[in-house]
Formats: sequence, structure tokens, C-alpha cells
Amino acid sequence: LIQLFRPLDMLGMVYRTVRQGLIDMAEMFRLIDTNAEVQDAPGAPALVVRRPTLAFEDVVFGYEEDRTILHGLSFEVPAGNHVAIVGPSGAGKSTIGRLLFRFYDPQAGRILIDGQDIAQVTQASLRDKIGIVPQDTVLFNDTIGYNIAYGRAGASTEQVAAAASAAAILPFIERLPDGLDTEVGERGLKLSGGEKQRVAIARTLVKDPPILLLDEATSALDSRTEQAILATLRRVSEHRTTLAIAHRLSTIADADRILVLDQGRLAESGTHGDLLRARGLYADMWARQQAESDA
Ligand code: ATP
Repeated sequence: LIQLFRPLDMLGMVYRTVRQGLIDMAEMFRLIDTNAEVQDAPGAPALVVRRPTLAFEDVVFGYEEDRTILHGLSFEVPAGNHVAIVGPSGAGKSTIGRLLFRFYDPQAGRILIDGQDIAQVTQASLRDKIGIVPQDTVLFNDTIGYNIAYGRAGASTEQVAAAASAAAILPFIERLPDGLDTEVGERGLKLSGGEKQRVAIARTLVKDPPILLLDEATSALDSRTEQAILATLRRVSEHRTTLAIAHRLSTIADADRILVLDQGRLAESGTHGDLLRARGLYADMWARQQAESDA
């Protein structure tokens, strides 16, 4: 019976995970590895990242044949820059993240990292170079140390502690009865939204990727915790190429460039100041969100 329930349990987790959108896709791939529809090209080399530049070139994509979601999308993220993607619900923001992680292949166009088409390199090497801080982090029923070390196989206790410290969760861990060996998850200690987010950040730091994908990483938090996490994220992403998918504009106003996506097309792009002056879609969204937060 257990053998029957285990796959069901896993399917349930995959389902919850898919529903959450852009979750820890690395985890999901580990779970459904053998079913993934995207395959490595025969003899594909590893992705080699010297300068972590990122480019979408005329990317056309739809989940279903008769419904195109991205209509020839192009943009570039220079190495070390922070680019945010905003836009109305359903515009295709999370889809961009899924394509970057090669959850799906575009129907036309290319996605390049440091000049290499991500469809032509091994998926393992691609995913190794991208760290995700997702909306909702999946925690394993294991120790908090394991949950952080999961970012990289073979991480030492020192590396885990250093990552926890940089993610500003080490003081919390040190107060736990068994420190890094404290059990968390459904059967152990429950973590708050902010603490889970810090575990996700620490996990990413252990992995030390040149590219970061932030999926509205602070959505479920109260505003004080959010500000603290944003400050940590800013530090962590300082020297990394960062793509942030955001719903609330206040969290990305300082991005080097903001891409405003509307129905799978780039409607506007520029800095926060540029976009306010342009008095277009972004300026409208900003005014609406300011009014909401004042209310
Ligand atoms: P939100 O701000 O609401 O999170 P988004 O801009 O991130 O939206 P996406 O999640 O990228 O939007 O979705 C873009 C479109 O693709 C939506 O119309 C959505 O219904 C559709 N879509 C997303 N995932 C799938 C899927 N797995 N299969 C079919 N259609 C999908």
C-alpha cells in the first residue's frame, strides 16, 4: 500500500507545486525528471558562463498550439544588471521565468545566456547557473541545515552557516534547540513566510549562481518583514544578473530597467523615472498601487 501512496503523495506535491506557478523548479524537475518534455540535444555541451548576460530574441511561445502567450519577445539583461518584469495578470511574466529555466522550449526565437542558446546546452548545466527565489519555497521534512544545503550537493557546514548568516537567518537558527540539525517541515518546526523566504535565499547563496530569478519573492509577507527581506535580496543580488518578476511596483522601483509586459508583448521599458514620465501603462499601474497603499 505504501508503494501505491508514495507516487500519489509525490503527484500531489507536483500538483501543488505547479499550481503555485514558478516554484522551486529545480525541485520539481528532480521529482518529475524522467517525464520532462524538454530533452537535452544529443551531445549537448555544458553552459559556460563567463559574463552572465541574458537575452530573449524574438521569442514566440504558447502552452497550447492555438494560443500564443509571448508574441516575439526580445530583451537583454547586461551582466550584473537588475531587470524587472511587470505587467497585468496573465501578461506572461511567470512564463518568461519558466522558459529561462527551460521548463518549455519556445516555438520560435532563442534565449541566450552569455551568447549560448539555452536549448543547445545541457539542462543540468543551465539550472546550475540560475538561482530561484520563488513565491513559495518547498521545504523538505528534514533538518533546516539540509534544506539550505540542498542548493548544492556536498556543501560543508561552514558554507551552510555562512549562507544562513548572509540571508540573515543564522541568529534564528542558533536559537533553535538543535541549531542547523533542527527538523522542519510538516513533521517538524513550522517556519513563518519570512523565515521560509530566508531559507530560500540561503539555499540560493549556497548554490552561488551567476544569475538570479526572483519571482515576487516577497509577496506573502507583512511590510516590515518585506522591507527586511528586500534589503537582504538587494545585497545578495548585487553582483549577479537578476531578473525579477514583480506584481507590486514598489519592490522593483530601483531596478536598472523595468520591462512592462502586456498580453505577451513589450509595451514599455525604462527606469522607474522614465516610465513615470512616459505616462503610459506603468504610470497608471503605479498610480493605482499608490492609491491602494494609501487607502
Ligand atoms: P500573474 O501576474 O497573474 O501571475 P503572469 O503575467 O505571470 O500572471 P503567466 O503565468 O505567465 O502570467 O501566464 C500567461 C498566460 O499563460 C495566462 O493566460 C495563463 O492562463 C497561461 N498559462 C500559464 N500557465 C499555463 C499552462 N501550464 N498551460 C496553459 N496555459 C497556461
